[in-house]
Amino acid sequence: MEQWILLAAAPLFLGLIGWEAWYWHRRGRAIYSAVDSISNAALALMHQVADALAWAATLGLFYAVYQFRLFDIPATWWGIALLVLGQDFLYYWFHRAHHRIRWMWASHVTHHSSERLNLSTAFRQSLTYPISGMWLFWLPLAWLGFEPTHIVAVVAINLGFQFFVHTQAIGRLGWVEKIFNTPSHHRVHHARNDKYIDRNYAGVLIVWDKLFGTFVEEDPDVPCEYGIIGQIHSHNPVTLTFHEWQAMFRDAWRADGFRSALKQLFGPPERAAKAQRIG
Ligand SMILES: [Zn+2]
Ligand SMILES: [Zn+2]
Repeated sequence: MEQWILLAAAPLFLGLIGWEAWYWHRRGRAIYSAVDSISNAALALMHQVADALAWAATLGLFYAVYQFRLFDIPATWWGIALLVLGQDFLYYWFHRAHHRIRWMWASHVTHHSSERLNLSTAFRQSLTYPISGMWLFWLPLAWLGFEPTHIVAVVAINLGFQFFVHTQAIGRLGWVEKIFNTPSHHRVHHARNDKYIDRNYAGVLIVWDKLFGTFVEEDPDVPCEYGIIGQIHSHNPVTLTFHEWQAMFRDAWRADGFRSALKQLFGPPERAAKAQRIG
C-alpha cells in the first residue's frame, strides 16, 4: 500500500506541472520543453516500477534485520516523527554518497542531466537505484526498530516532499530557508557552477548540510547553470538511464590495473569526467 503514496499524489503533481508550464509560457520564458518533460515522465514510470520491485525483493531483508531491533518504537506521533527525522538524516548521506561515489552517481546522474529545472524535473529518476544500493541506506532504520512498511512510506513521503522544491517560480521563503530544503536551496543543488556543484544534499531539512559543511546559499549575482559536467544531449530515457554506467564500465575496463579499475567504479565521479575531457 505504501508504494502507492506517490501514485496517489500524481494528479496533484501533474496539475502543478500544468500550472507552472502555463505560468512560464505566459511570461515567455523557455523553462519547459515538451520533449524534456515527456522524457522525465517516462523516467518516473520506469523508476516507480523498479522501486516497487526493489521493495518487494528487499522487504524480507528489512524484516530479518527488524527481528534484531534495538528498540520497540511505537507508531505514535513521536515514533513517526523520529522516523521522519532519522530517514531524512540518512537521506542526506544517501544523496551525498550518490554524488561522490561513481557507482552511485551512475544512477543519480539521471536526475541531474537536464539543463532545465522545473517541477517535472522531480520526475526524472533512475531505475538503477536498487543496483547502486539505495535500500542499504534505510536498513539501519529497521535495526533501530522502525517497522519496515513505515520505512517504505516515509521514504516515499520524503521523495514526494522534494517534488515541490524543483521550481524556479518560487523565490526565497524567509525563515523557512533556515530549516527546510526550499526551491532556492535545491536550485543550487541542480547547478553545475563551481560555486554550487555538490552542495545542498538535503531532502526535507537543510540543517544537515549546515551541520556537515555542504551548505551554500543561492547568490543572486551567480545565476544557476543547470545540468552536469560533460553534458549529455539526449531525451531517450534508456540512454539517460544507462550512459554513465556504460562510461564507468568502459573506463574501468580500460583502467591500468585492478586498483585504478576500482577507483573508476568507486572513486569520485569527476576523475572520470576529467579523464574523458583529456582523452
Ligand atoms: Zn543530487
Ligand atoms: Zn532534484
